[in-house]
Amino acid sequence: MLTTPERIAFLLLALASLLLTLRGVRLIVRAIGRGYGRPSWGVFLRRVIPVSLDILLQRPIFRTRPLVSLLHAGVFFAFVFYGLVNVLDLLEGFNGYSTLHASGVASAYNLVADLLSVAALLGMLGLLLRRFGLRPFRFNRAVFLLPSVRFGISRDSAIVGGFILLHVGSRWAGQAVRIAESGRPDWSQPTASLLARLLGGLDAATLAVASHATWWLALGLILVFLPYFPYSKHIHLFMAPLNLILREEKPLGRLEPPVGNGQLGSARLEELRWYQILDAYACIMCNRCQDVCPAHGTGRALSPAALEINKRYYLNRNLNRFAGGTTSPPLLETATSRAAVWSCTTCGACVRICPVGNRPMLDLIDLRRSLVFAGDELDPNLQAALESLSRYGNSFGKPARQRARWARDLPFPVKDARKEPVEYLWFVGDFASFDPRMQENTKTVAQLFHQAGVDFGILYEDEWNSGNDVRRVGEEGLFELLAEHNLAVLGKARFRAIVTTDPHSYNALRNEYSALGLDVPVYHYTEVLAELLERGQLRPSKRLQAVATYHDPCYLGRYNRITAAPRRVIRALGLELREMPRHGENTYCCGAGGGQIWMDSGGQERPSEQRIREAIALGEDVRFFVVACPKDMAMYSDAVKTTGYEQRLTVIDVARLVAWATGLIELEREAAPVSE
Ligand code: SF4
Ligand code: SF4
Repeated sequence: MLTTPERIAFLLLALASLLLTLRGVRLIVRAIGRGYGRPSWGVFLRRVIPVSLDILLQRPIFRTRPLVSLLHAGVFFAFVFYGLVNVLDLLEGFNGYSTLHASGVASAYNLVADLLSVAALLGMLGLLLRRFGLRPFRFNRAVFLLPSVRFGISRDSAIVGGFILLHVGSRWAGQAVRIAESGRPDWSQPTASLLARLLGGLDAATLAVASHATWWLALGLILVFLPYFPYSKHIHLFMAPLNLILREEKPLGRLEPPVGNGQLGSARLEELRWYQILDAYACIMCNRCQDVCPAHGTGRALSPAALEINKRYYLNRNLNRFAGGTTSPPLLETATSRAAVWSCTTCGACVRICPVGNRPMLDLIDLRRSLVFAGDELDPNLQAALESLSRYGNSFGKPARQRARWARDLPFPVKDARKEPVEYLWFVGDFASFDPRMQENTKTVAQLFHQAGVDFGILYEDEWNSGNDVRRVGEEGLFELLAEHNLAVLGKARFRAIVTTDPHSYNALRNEYSALGLDVPVYHYTEVLAELLERGQLRPSKRLQAVATYHDPCYLGRYNRITAAPRRVIRALGLELREMPRHGENTYCCGAGGGQIWMDSGGQERPSEQRIREAIALGEDVRFFVVACPKDMAMYSDAVKTTGYEQRLTVIDVARLVAWATGLIELEREAAPVSE
């Protein structure tokens, strides 16, 4: 079909395009290679097939936004199939090979190409309409953005969208032209045949020119676009699968030690790990992470999406120099702000929701580490909490011997697990031990264990804070100190399993301490309560006929997927459970994690207040807001007051409900609307 000059022009253009593209790709590989560590190709081999299947089925994308995902799927499937289409069209241009009016397999190919062309065009038009018509991607004003980003995102979307429309549209129109030239419809290409009808009046010379023009627009355009490809968001087509395949297979709740010699953390792009740089290239700029971020949702300066997008645009603009080894400016000048870094609750929602496997939260923790290491001025309350932790082993600044004072009020002695063997070693946690508002709950749990005949004991003053939030604040040295102490004490005690009332401690014990050598089962108290109820060791004598909603703590529901046990307990008591829209692994953060509970909220709205409104919206008959975390108890007891819903909604620990149903305690105000 092509003339000889056209063939020569195409080959020269292809050569130039490939050389320029390869240069861009080489620079990106070098840029990613500047990060710490190296990918594990063993992981690649293990994960390549299952992850590729997931991607082919578009599972990560379909987790949210079904309509947008459908549009994306149309474009994606067309893109995959167009790999074959482009090769065959190339053959058609160079040696006249054609599937027009073909039968058998070739006609099936024609049909798929025809339908996917229309799907891609409609999908792309829908996505562009959404991006430019509805403008769903807004960052709140406090969010730091590089000047190039605001305009760059729109420009990039317009170029990529325009390319797809022109490339696919030209190929589709080209088929219509060839059908019109042949003088009869090709029903294996139904939509192109319909378009060909409109071209029926054109003379042969015009159709011949149109045939060449559409071929060049479809295939020549690829060569023009290719060198831009490594700098466009389209590169996610390769980087996102790579990111998903090479992702470390370790729990979300286990952090890696800081990079560098000593405990430096990461202040600059090249001080991140390789996969944190890859994240910037995998990002599809969908803002899903921002939508679920409790810090952004309450107007704070943090947007995990902006962090990744800023990284990408910094790299795009400085790729030559960065790949060449030049020291980059601090991330606090190019990617995010100090206020954003200290707003993160480490809830993990951004990591869970990201369809391409990005982990912006890890960048924020590494930045915190670098700030703490550099002696940056911290929030005074946080500073005070860290000092208390290093001095007393707890954040309350109380002498260690006061840790188990709550146990003195019990009518039975609580075993000392340091001195005698127990079945369950109860790691109580700071809040449950020291906060006067939580101690009633703690005593209730002890009474329930006692009533059910559970053999349990505690570590008394030798239990120190688990360090879960200390590590996420960036105080790695203090985390090590706390973990070493607790591990040494646990190492001397004799027990079968650990149970804890605190999801943060649960995460540290199960994920962080296990990496440091702890090898015992760890349970959350709701798991133990569920078993005791199901085995008949706890027998409810009353049924609580009321409607309740349950809040999944991030470190229990999302990090460790313990979502069923608390619900089993609630249902066993006869309560009707009504779920909030965000529940289970998709829960919303209370705002206390990542050290936020020690920091000043600055008078801004807290995520816990939004959460209470979410529960209120479930209906007037929802009476109980059930929690299973001492920090949640503190956060929501405050939030229900500050939002003015104290009379409508009762925040209550799940253990209190069990204790009431089993006749162990009386609930006063809480019990009033509940019939037995
Ligand atoms: S971990 Fe939570 S608070 Fe932090 S950036 Fe991600 S979504 Fe936002
Ligand atoms: S980090 Fe992930 S969720 Fe966030 S904008 Fe990028 S691709 Fe979307």
